[in-house]
Amino acid sequence: MSPSSSTPFSSVPSPLGYGHRHLLGIEGLTADEIGVLLDLSEGYVALSRSQSKKTALMRGLTVINLFFETSTRTRTSFELAGKRLGADVINMSVAWSAIKKGETLIDTAMTLNAMHPDVLVVRHPDSGAVKLLSEKVNCAVINAGDGSHEHPTQALLDALTIRRRRGSLAGLVVAICGDILHSRVARSNIHLLTALGAKVRAVAPPTLMPTEIESLGAEVFFDMRRALEGCDIVMMLRLQTERMHGSYVPSTREYFHFYGLDRDKLAAAKPDALIMHPGPMNRGVEIDSEVADDIDRSLIRAQVEMGVAVRMACLDILTRDLRRDNAQAGGG
Ligand code: ASP
Repeated sequence: MSPSSSTPFSSVPSPLGYGHRHLLGIEGLTADEIGVLLDLSEGYVALSRSQSKKTALMRGLTVINLFFETSTRTRTSFELAGKRLGADVINMSVAWSAIKKGETLIDTAMTLNAMHPDVLVVRHPDSGAVKLLSEKVNCAVINAGDGSHEHPTQALLDALTIRRRRGSLAGLVVAICGDILHSRVARSNIHLLTALGAKVRAVAPPTLMPTEIESLGAEVFFDMRRALEGCDIVMMLRLQTERMHGSYVPSTREYFHFYGLDRDKLAAAKPDALIMHPGPMNRGVEIDSEVADDIDRSLIRAQVEMGVAVRMACLDILTRDLRRDNAQAGGG
């Protein structure tokens, strides 16, 4: 049975204007599609803040969280999102053996597919692995982070967080600082922020700056203070040592001296510039606790809250046609 012929919601455009079967990345989404997801998320922020946080929207549907890499906030947040929508949520952490790579991935995909999930949420250490998996299964797939490629729901929750504080992203200057080379968060954010009219500055030491970054629409800086001059948002990234083979920075102390965010460097930004970090944070490496915990300027906790709402919106939109077809089949 081929996935494309069997899926009940592959070719029917969503009535809300999100015309994709999966969410594999921000690249390729239009500003309108991003707007649809953000608008829908707003309702879920309100629901998550209310006393009764649960709806029965996805009752009877199954979400499997398939994580080939460790995660705390993303996995928990998808689990909460699915449960708040009334779905059955299963978490699977898969031990990863580099030798088995392709075989393990496809085998796992086929095994899970046979259990008829309705949404697979997948995190994998290899760029492109989630797309490959999406081609083998019959259900909707959400990329929860693939290697250094994309992490679309992180970019969406970042955008929602900014939009709620600033009203709009258009015209804002956003500095993305740190280990850009290994960061899927940076790539997804560059696609999203430029699509919504923000100006992106990428700041990193030369060893952590990927060559293609300018072609994605970001302006490249190696000097943090210059990069922060006049910017509205300072988005810090974790130094991803688990993805580094060899030495990329002389020492974490020196790294903090040149690229760590502290009060002194933050002074170059606009006086009301806001601070973001996708987590987990390495305090004292890429960010000083004093700025990370500044309740007036740090959006880090708000980002976590927005994560649940955005993931609810993504699960909702990707199962709309399926729910409609189920309702029609059941005469509902
Ligand atoms: N949590 C984010 C990710 O999975 C950022 C990070 O790990 O540094 O990419």
